[in-house]
Amino acid sequence: VRRRCVIGGRSETLYARHPFGLTVAASERWGRLRAAWPGDVDAVLLTHLVNVRWAAGFTGTAASLLVSRDPGRDAVIATDERYRLRVAEECPDVELRLSRRPAIDLLADRGAESPCRLGIEADHVTLSEFAELQAVAAGHPVELVALAAVVEPLRASKDDEEIAALTAACAATDAAFGDVLGRLRPGLTESEVEWMLTAAMRAAGAEGSAFDAIVASGPHAAVPHHRPGSRQLVRGDLLTMDFGAVVDGQHADMTRTVVVGRPSGWQQDLHEVVTRIQEEVRGMVRPGMAPDRLDDAARDRILTAGHDVAHGVGHGVGLEVHEEPWLTPGSTSAELVAGVCLTIEPGIYLEGRGGVRVEDTLLVTPSGAESLTGSDRSLIQV
Ligand code: ZN
Ligand code: ZN
Repeated sequence: VRRRCVIGGRSETLYARHPFGLTVAASERWGRLRAAWPGDVDAVLLTHLVNVRWAAGFTGTAASLLVSRDPGRDAVIATDERYRLRVAEECPDVELRLSRRPAIDLLADRGAESPCRLGIEADHVTLSEFAELQAVAAGHPVELVALAAVVEPLRASKDDEEIAALTAACAATDAAFGDVLGRLRPGLTESEVEWMLTAAMRAAGAEGSAFDAIVASGPHAAVPHHRPGSRQLVRGDLLTMDFGAVVDGQHADMTRTVVVGRPSGWQQDLHEVVTRIQEEVRGMVRPGMAPDRLDDAARDRILTAGHDVAHGVGHGVGLEVHEEPWLTPGSTSAELVAGVCLTIEPGIYLEGRGGVRVEDTLLVTPSGAESLTGSDRSLIQV
């Protein structure tokens, strides 16, 4: 199944930069999935749409997917009439079951065939959905098995197609930053800058924004997840912009902090400290590294510099903007392998004065890591 990934014809060039042999076809994803779930489970019912998309390529807003352990059995996707044509286009290898109650009907169909221990996604089923599934299972020889995250750890490692899309998303993010940088000036509101970034990403080929862009000026830059408002930029402000483009479902994530006018001494010092920490931690990213050790490294450095730690140093990116692996204290995410995409984003925040965060989206390579976002990390004056 080939999916579109074109930004002005650039994706093919970007593709060629990653000859790591990471290609995993849809059927190979099912193979990885089958190997990941407990041996006594006969089939897994995926109800979380992002996981359905990962496993089958389906991008609609309503569906469930049943994957059986027996590789001879087809995977079955259930969705309603609105998506009949989309399934034919996006997942031609998957058997289609038209249904207005996808999970229920897949369960009943499977139960009618033969006795089955059926895994369900415990993290993504509501209590009422579970009660419904249980009621149907009770009428069939089906035993429900609650599975903790079974797809999420697999999603952390990207194949060539996903890497090409993520690379294109990062390129659109860089392009938007370059575009907006030349237009920033005192008097613009945070909301206006947010819209400029959003529009610039779309103009650069993004299908959407990874999240509502964070634009935090002056004292607001001390709030890690400030919501942009009507405050106008004034000379002397630190200005933090955290944003990302989406291409073919893959989410980029980048933060840059710039200064409006000339920086003061403390602003320069703060920016220098954060940029150095970010560079050092980026340099530690390689296969075999434990995600929580990267967080420890950033934490130690921020504390040594005499500041408080406000958040983890990063997270995986992909079909979701926050996903495995988690770069947080005590994270149980698996050691990094080539193909994992993640952010490194240390920040230091001084209440009432401002703050600095520098964030890039990285790809773990066989020998280290490569930053997919490449915008200038120095303290740019606008
Ligand atoms: Zn971010
Ligand atoms: Zn982030």
